[in-house]
Amino acid sequence: SGAGKGTLIHGVLDRDPEIAAVAVSATTRRQREGEEEGREYYFLSDGAFQARVDADAFEEHVSFAGGRYGTLKEEIDRLLGEGRNVILELEVEGSFAIRRRRPDACLIFIDAPLEELDRRLRRRATEMAGEIEMRLAIANAQRRERTQFDHVILNDDADRAAGELSATMQSEISRQGGRPSP
Ligand code: 5GP
Repeated sequence: SGAGKGTLIHGVLDRDPEIAAVAVSATTRRQREGEEEGREYYFLSDGAFQARVDADAFEEHVSFAGGRYGTLKEEIDRLLGEGRNVILELEVEGSFAIRRRRPDACLIFIDAPLEELDRRLRRRATEMAGEIEMRLAIANAQRRERTQFDHVILNDDADRAAGELSATMQSEISRQGGRPSP
């Protein structure tokens, strides 16, 4: 749920690059400083996003915090075609949509105390003051759904949480008959 999750996943991939690949989502929100087209997101205009909705190109898509976000089918299919396990970074509504479409998906909720989210959002400081309040309110609502996930990981300490996420993914992969990486 929101700030800090991306870095947690990168902590896992740094430990074990083979464990999975991250599907890059499309979004209409504005590009933040330091973000690159095709790395954090595919940044689309409202019109280009809607054209993909109309073409049924999305596995799932949502409106969130004033923008639209979606996972492109071709992004998932390409990575699965390469034999990779695929990580999707989603808010809760999209997570449940994926669970309905792909019952073998494992849903992991990355939880952070709200004070910590507040600190991270303010440190990031690319959001307007009103937008920070909105994102905190959304984060609070998202947290209420966390009991419906298969696992909840508390993002208290980056190293500890990355270790737990990595172990959770390994055990899920072997439970599903995949080959856990060393
Ligand atoms: P941010 O604007 O901070 O990058 O992301 C806002 C929220 O949108 C985060 O909770 C993120 O996980 C979620 N998100 C990013 N990409 C997608 C997507 O493709 N689908 C859905 N449902 N949520 C997404």
